[in-house]
Amino acid sequence: MIESFKQLEEAGTNRDLAEVFLEVDEQEHGIPAEQILATLRKRREVMRDCVSRGKSGGLSMGKLVGNEAKKLNEAFTAGKTFLDPLTIKAELYALAVMGENSRMGVIVAAPTAGAGGVVPGMLLALEEERNVDPEKTVRALVVAGGIGSIVALSANISGAAGGCQNEVGVATAMGAAAVAYMMGGTTHECIHASALALKNTLGLVCDPVGGLVEVPCVKRNALFAVHGLTAAQLALAGVESVIPMDEVVEAMVRIGRALPRGLRETAEGGLATTATGCAIGTRLKDEANQRRAERAAERERVAQERKTQAS
Ligand code: SF4
Repeated sequence: MIESFKQLEEAGTNRDLAEVFLEVDEQEHGIPAEQILATLRKRREVMRDCVSRGKSGGLSMGKLVGNEAKKLNEAFTAGKTFLDPLTIKAELYALAVMGENSRMGVIVAAPTAGAGGVVPGMLLALEEERNVDPEKTVRALVVAGGIGSIVALSANISGAAGGCQNEVGVATAMGAAAVAYMMGGTTHECIHASALALKNTLGLVCDPVGGLVEVPCVKRNALFAVHGLTAAQLALAGVESVIPMDEVVEAMVRIGRALPRGLRETAEGGLATTATGCAIGTRLKDEANQRRAERAAERERVAQERKTQAS
């Protein structure tokens, strides 16, 4: 079992990183590599479908978000964007996935639903823009999952446990390593890509407005998809994290514990308690109460109708 990034580096020197993770899974859990790859091929397809649906937009459950991907796609196809296509597509695909998530569509949690746009945003954009073999993307998903699973040995991957650094931060680290892998990076470079990505998300709080995974979550995924690409680029150029990845994870855990409860998914701090955030929270509560009252009235009406029919 690989329990640390130090161990991973030792096991993965001069080796294909996906192969290392596949081998460990086979030895530990008895799952043949081909079975894992077949599952991840399907996951990649789900991600692609999700991106394709998400580009059409549509309002979210809380009506706070949902059309970001549509707007960016329209601007991109009309030639009205100024960033390079890889960056735009990473943002666009992350927004598309998160739009689907906000409408309760099918997505791949990577590692969570709230952070589910970062990895597909980065990987699918890179695959298209750099003509990467889709099979390499599938193997990059093995790398992303492997990185996430090592982090999960020492950290609870949830905003409630340690803030958004534990969700979007970890997703960004997973995606950065996977992108470095797709671009031919060594195990050493992949680990540094994840460390550079994660350490620059430390302290990121979880403050969803109205308690919904909409604001700031949807746009945050897009912005951090770009952050992850940048981390991978730096690592591939030989830039290293002075703080090793294991220590970055330890710092993340300590910071998460130090975060006040209001900044850990309770919607009792940060953006959720701004004037606008509070107004939205009140509106959402009123709407929920209204729906409850309507359902109760409907149940009452049906019960009365049955009584009348029976008598
Ligand atoms: S702000 Fe909280 S709910 Fe939103 S993505 Fe981050 S961790 Fe998840």
